[in-house]
Amino acid sequence: MSDTIFSKIINKEIPAEILYEDDLALAFKDINPQAPIHFLVIPKKPIATINDIQVEDKALVGHLYWVAATIAKEQGFAEDGYRAVMNCNEDGGQTVYHIHLHVLAGKALGWPPY
Ligand code: 5GP
Repeated sequence: MSDTIFSKIINKEIPAEILYEDDLALAFKDINPQAPIHFLVIPKKPIATINDIQVEDKALVGHLYWVAATIAKEQGFAEDGYRAVMNCNEDGGQTVYHIHLHVLAGKALGWPPY
């Protein structure tokens, strides 16, 4: 897949407010927050969409949720609650084709999302 803006964030070619980093994943604040707390958790491996997740990526995708929950506990909003979602393709609202978990929190979130 071609590089996205998230590859540049991973490679520190453009700045981001990084919350967590390890050898597999990176978490950083969303540049256009849709809730009082809104950050993204991404794999360092570029995977374009949920549809492109391979069998060997299953643990990696689980790791993204573990990172989200770890940050939620550290920041103290885990008990109040949050949403952790991935958008897929056009109807799902995906604009950056490098999978990312949106983590939204800090208020009671509406459902359904339309
Ligand atoms: P999507 O629409 O693909 O589900 O979500 C992409 C998200 O990436 C959006 O919430 C958007 O605000 C965020 N985003 C796009 N470009 C940048 C950037 O350069 N830096 C950061 N921190 N977030 C970005």
